Amino acid sequence: SKTLHIIGGGMAGSEAAWQAAHMGVPVVLHEMRPQVKTFAHRTGDLAEMVCSNSFRSDDDEQNAVGLLHWEMRAANGLIMQTAEKHRIPAGGALAVDRDPFAQSVTAALLAHPNITVEHGEIDTLPEDGHWIIATGPLTSEGLGKAIATETGAESLAFFDAIAPILYYDSIDMSRAWMQSRYDKGETEEERTAYLNCPMDKAQYEAFIDALLAADKTEFHEGEADSAPKPTPYFDGCLPIEVMAERGRETLRHGPMKPVGLTNPHHPDIKPWAVVQLRRDNALGTLYNIVGFQTKMKYGAQKDVLRMIPGLENASFARLGGIHRNTFINSPTLLDNQMRLRSRPHIRFAGQITGVEGYVESAAMGLLAGRMAAAEILGAPLADPPQDSAMGALIHHITGGAEAKTFQPMNVNFGLFRPVDGLKGGRRGRKDRYKAYTDRAKAAWSDWLQQSLLDVA
Ligand code: FAD
Repeated sequence: SKTLHIIGGGMAGSEAAWQAAHMGVPVVLHEMRPQVKTFAHRTGDLAEMVCSNSFRSDDDEQNAVGLLHWEMRAANGLIMQTAEKHRIPAGGALAVDRDPFAQSVTAALLAHPNITVEHGEIDTLPEDGHWIIATGPLTSEGLGKAIATETGAESLAFFDAIAPILYYDSIDMSRAWMQSRYDKGETEEERTAYLNCPMDKAQYEAFIDALLAADKTEFHEGEADSAPKPTPYFDGCLPIEVMAERGRETLRHGPMKPVGLTNPHHPDIKPWAVVQLRRDNALGTLYNIVGFQTKMKYGAQKDVLRMIPGLENASFARLGGIHRNTFINSPTLLDNQMRLRSRPHIRFAGQITGVEGYVESAAMGLLAGRMAAAEILGAPLADPPQDSAMGALIHHITGGAEAKTFQPMNVNFGLFRPVDGLKGGRRGRKDRYKAYTDRAKAAWSDWLQQSLLDVA
């Protein structure tokens, strides 16, 4: 049949339905609410915003999320169009009046002649047909189990435990150095996989004090309960501040152990503790702090992490956190068209693919909807250009990210191929971001135009 079935009418599923319907494909959107609830949703509306009412920065020249807004608007994106209609003043951010926003998205989808909405939970993987699974961070337990059976339990997470990720070019390499522990690694790539930041005893003690004193966030009501047991802290995912609470030396014997490393800046001084950073993407523009998942509040987190020698001026691509979040290991499970390799008639979209946030989820819904519809129409789409925000994000989740340490990602300029020949410093950064966004808009516009011709 030519019908596209979409499971989940959130940010991603709503956008996917809209895009596919506009391409002339009949869509059935399956949404379990209001019959089956989640701990975070309050209504039966489609595209309900569960927490903040903001789609973040709307600056399409200096901000990667603003750029994603621009690209979605250029692609007739329903979420962005509707956000514009219900926009409320919020400085440079795109904030909306959430209830009218969700009601408006719902009305637009219900009014579309190609779209049918069916309420009810789907708890098995479909055997045939064309499907998109967009069930989000709070995928129902039954469907979660069915996905885990197909992918293997180790490829489906129920929590994210995110260590902070920062930009390589903000690390002070006169203090930090590149070396893998015990100089392991055969290839140049393996040897440059780790960066190290040394601490002496006084710095370590001050760091532990700051960790213990920092403001922390709590789980939302129902958040920890809604995941399969045992939760919430499973092996290897203890927040650093919880490790510090267990003893002042715990971190020095855990993620901050100083063994197997020599500081080339001071080869004769043995560090008391070492913070390790691991390359986070193939480009080498992003590094995550190994073992540093944390529930510190964002402001406190920046202050505490900038106490680490070499990270005084660190600029963060994303801060750490631990949340209830169902997501699959996309780099191993999905192909570059977001199809499940083991069952290519099923695509995944939205936060369950390992992107993070309303905007990123809607963006991946937009791509999945178009890709599925084009395939049904017999004219598969070319891969989105890597220089666009859409392309950078899908490339990251389906291949660019390290599979072993895969954790959800926001869109950010670290995912983009560097633009050469631009100066460093503050002024340089403004020019660089402008160059990224100019390049992205041109690439995205070309791809949109080409894909129209292909499908027509
Ligand atoms: P969702 O929008 O969650 O949509 C998934 C839909 O699938 C839901 O409507 C759900 O009812 C439905 N569904 C689930 N299982 C089934 C099933 N088996 N059958 C049928 N339907 C099903 N992002 C931000 O940008 N800002 C924030 O402030 C923010 N706060 C958050 C707070 C919490 C507590 C949580 C859990 C997430 C938060 N997020 C936030 C992330 C946000 O939820 C996602 O970015 C976004 O909603 C994901 O879009 P999605 O379409 O992938 O999933």
